[in-house]
Amino acid sequence: MTAGRHFLQIPGPSNVPDRILRAMDYPTMDHRGPAFADVGRKALEGMKSIFKTESRVVIYPSSGTGAWEAALVNTLSPGDTVLMYETGHFATLWKSLAQKLDLNPVFIESDWRAGADPAAIEERLRADKGHEIKAVCVVHNETSTGSVTPVADVRRAMDAAGHPALLMADTISSLASVEFKHDDWGVDVTVSGSQKGLMLPPGLSFNAISDKAMKVSEAAGLKRAYWSWADMAGPNDTGYFPYTPATNLLYGLNEAIDMLHEEGLDNVFARHQRHAAATRAAVKAWGLEVLCQVPEHRSPVLTAVMVPEGHSADNFRAVTLRNYDMSLGNGLSKVADRVFRIGHLGDFNDLMLCGTLSGVEMGLRDAGIPYRAGGVQAALEVLGQKFDAARAAA
Ligand SMILES: *Cc1c(COP(=O)(O)O)cnc(C)c1O
Repeated sequence: MTAGRHFLQIPGPSNVPDRILRAMDYPTMDHRGPAFADVGRKALEGMKSIFKTESRVVIYPSSGTGAWEAALVNTLSPGDTVLMYETGHFATLWKSLAQKLDLNPVFIESDWRAGADPAAIEERLRADKGHEIKAVCVVHNETSTGSVTPVADVRRAMDAAGHPALLMADTISSLASVEFKHDDWGVDVTVSGSQKGLMLPPGLSFNAISDKAMKVSEAAGLKRAYWSWADMAGPNDTGYFPYTPATNLLYGLNEAIDMLHEEGLDNVFARHQRHAAATRAAVKAWGLEVLCQVPEHRSPVLTAVMVPEGHSADNFRAVTLRNYDMSLGNGLSKVADRVFRIGHLGDFNDLMLCGTLSGVEMGLRDAGIPYRAGGVQAALEVLGQKFDAARAAA
């Protein structure tokens, strides 16, 4: 037993604020009774404001992987070609899921050091004269690498190519942390989950669905039952669900939506940008390298840090957990043991970041990783800049 709070600084699940824990600490109600409709309607309507959409949102009692599957089985037919982009481990998992569903994913490969390149997507779409490609699937925030794909630019590339494919985006680790506009950006299916930017425990997942995707789903040939949008639509229109929803998580979701609007989504996004900038300043001062090489693609949600050749990121994480009770994200598949990931998302503030970066700096020392001292100091300088104008005026 360790005194004080554990630091859960993996890039999801993120810290659940006390206010949300309290909101869930309430008796489970009859999900077919009259009082439930308010809970259901508030969650379904509220999520539209988070996705920035006027069209339909569905909520599943599942992890994010379920919403990945739902996006594909509702819109596609066996053998359909889908264009996917290897931004990292999560993009690769989505591609494997597509293969298991008898889809034919075309995978644009990459070195995991940037978000998806819209120009490469445009080139593939222009070459697809017969419109064999039925969907373009990208991961907005690639959680394994800390890179962001410019989703609006992917839409522009699709339009420039004059291609009718659906655009699908995985926002499981970006929604409510990084700006995202389902309608304005012309996304057809947006996939998300509860346990990252939404600050909830794991267990809820989402699809936001354009009218075009809803129409396409009527003729799509893949079998679906649990994930069926059509089965959800009727009950959802009056605030109910076709099967038992995760009632207490919906209480928490409604609290999370309120909290996000109280702070203001733009302020939430700016907070994440600022914490990411401070984290990168620390990494630079330590003399270490950020995995994502394209500055404008670097993630506001997490920072993946490479350890020098010959050193073990996993040993560093184990030492940091043992000595300071802080969990950091591990490197996945291609970058296993080569990187560690610092999560700076969700319910998070300046002093939590300072504690996190202090833990990393002490862990580097304890694990014998070559680094220069002063990373935390560099982060403090970046954090302080917010108040420079006020100080100058005083
Ligand atoms: C976490 C995550 C997933 C997987 O979600 P689960 O809830 O573990 O099923 C998929 N994509 C991205 C980008 C993620 O961050």
